[in-house]
Amino acid sequence: ENTLHIVGGGMAGSEAAWQAANMGVRVIIHEMRPQVETFAHRTGNLAEMVCSNSFRSDDDEQNAVGLLHWEMRAANGLIMQMAQRHRLPAGGALAVDRDPFSESVTQALLAHPNISVEPGEITELPSDGHWIIATGPLTSSALGAAIQRETGAERLAFFDAIAPIVYADTVNMDVAWLQSRYDKGETEAEQKAYLNCPMTKDQYEAFIDALLAADKTEFHEGETAGYFDGCLPIEVMAERGRETLRHGPMKPVGLTNAHTPENKPYAVVQLRRDNALGTLYNIVGFQTKMKYGAQTEVFKMIPGLENASFARLGGIHRNTFLNSPTLLDDQMRLKSRPNIRFAGQVTGVEGYVESAAMGLLAGRLAAAEILGKPLPTAPQDTAMGALIHHITGGAEAKTFQPMNVNFGLFRPVDGLKGGRRGRKDRYKAYTDRAKEEFNQWLEAQI
Ligand code: FAD
Repeated sequence: ENTLHIVGGGMAGSEAAWQAANMGVRVIIHEMRPQVETFAHRTGNLAEMVCSNSFRSDDDEQNAVGLLHWEMRAANGLIMQMAQRHRLPAGGALAVDRDPFSESVTQALLAHPNISVEPGEITELPSDGHWIIATGPLTSSALGAAIQRETGAERLAFFDAIAPIVYADTVNMDVAWLQSRYDKGETEAEQKAYLNCPMTKDQYEAFIDALLAADKTEFHEGETAGYFDGCLPIEVMAERGRETLRHGPMKPVGLTNAHTPENKPYAVVQLRRDNALGTLYNIVGFQTKMKYGAQTEVFKMIPGLENASFARLGGIHRNTFLNSPTLLDDQMRLKSRPNIRFAGQVTGVEGYVESAAMGLLAGRLAAAEILGKPLPTAPQDTAMGALIHHITGGAEAKTFQPMNVNFGLFRPVDGLKGGRRGRKDRYKAYTDRAKEEFNQWLEAQI
C-alpha cells in the first residue's frame, strides 16, 4: 500500500502532506479537531497558530530561524508560501494574519489532487502502512498512552522543563571554572564536565531577591495536571525558603574555585554540556516560569555570566515529546517500528518554524521511501540538518529537552575571528555554507 498517512494536521503535518503529495504520493491527513479539542486550538483549521502570530526573524544571513525560512522556501514549503501571502508589517519578523493564513493552508491542502483529510482521532500506533505522527505538544491522551506503551513511559514526556542554554564562548572563564562535583568521573573530560559559577553570600542574597521579584508567566487553564513532579521552577524553590536553592541545585559542596582555591564559594551555579559539539551549556536545575526579559536580567547577575548570550531561555510548558536521541533514527523513523515516522514538536523541536521544517523533512523522506528512491537526511551544516542531527544524535539523551534552531547547533567554520564583528562573519559563513549544501541536497532529488 503506497498511501502515506499523516496523523495531525498542524504545522508539521500540513507541510509533510504538501511535500509528499507534490512528489506524487497519495496522502491522507487524520485530524481530530474540531471533534476532539485541545486547550490551545480555537478552530478546525489545519496549521492553526495557537499563540503568537509570528514566525520570528526573517533574516536569512544573521539568524538561524531566518535561515530555516530560506530553506523551506527553497523547498517550495507551503507554510512559508502562505505566510508570505498573509504577511503583516513587523520589522524584521515574519508575522501573519493568523486566520486567513491557516484557512489558506487548509484550502491548498484540500484542493490538492493527492491529498484527502479524514476527520477523527487516532488512538493506537498503526502496525502496517506508512505513517507520520505529527500530533504536536498537545497529542491526545489516548495516543500518548499508546506511544508510551511502545517506548516505555520514561521516554515520552508530557511537560518540558527547559533550563536556559548559553553559548559556551560567552561564559567568562576568568570567573568560571571547569570541574565535576567531587571530580567524579573516569576520564579528565568527565572530571571537568561542568562549568561552575561561584557566588558570595551577598551575591546569593541579591540573586534570591531578584528571583522572588521577577515577572512570571502563568499556566493556561487546564494546562497544569500532573506538573509538579520533579521539575519545580527555581523561583518556586526560592519561595519555599531562602536557603532551598543553596541546598539544591546551587549547593557549593565538592567544588573548589580554580581561580581562588582559598575562598570557599557560598553557592555555585553549575552549567552542564548540552551538545556533543560543546558549544552549548544548560544551567542545571534552572527551569523557570520567569518572563524572558526577567530571565536575561536575573541570569546576568550570576558571576561568569555577566555577558552571556542565551541560545534559548528557560520555560515549563505542557508539551508531549519523545526522547528522540534514543528512539528515532536520522530518517525520523521509530527504531522499533520503522513504518512510523515522527515529525514536528513531538520530536523535541520547539516552535512553529522548527515544527514545520521537521514536517517538510519527514514528508520528503517518507515519500522518497515509498517511491523506492530513499533520500539521505538533510545535510548537517544546513539549519534543517543541524536540528535533525541534534535531536537524533548530538543531544544528551539523559537530559534531553526540546530545542529551537540556533547557531550553537552548527559545526564551526574554521579560520574565523572571535568578537562582535567576528560573530557577524561567523553567522554569515554558517548561512552561506547552509544555503549551498541545502541547494545541493535539493538538486540531488530531481
Ligand atoms: P500542532 O500544530 O499542535 O499540530 C498537531 C495536530 O495534531 C493538531 O491539529 C491536533 O489537533 C492533532 N492531533 C493531536 N492528537 C491527535 C490524534 N490522536 N489524532 C488525530 N489528530 C491529533 N510556538 C511558537 O513558535 N510560537 C508560539 O507562540 C507558541 N505558543 C504556544 C502556546 C501553547 C499553549 C502551546 C501548547 C504551544 C505553543 N507553541 C508555540 C508551540 C507550537 O504548538 C508548536 O510550535 C507548533 O504548533 C507545533 O506544530 P506541530 O505540527 O508539531 O503541532
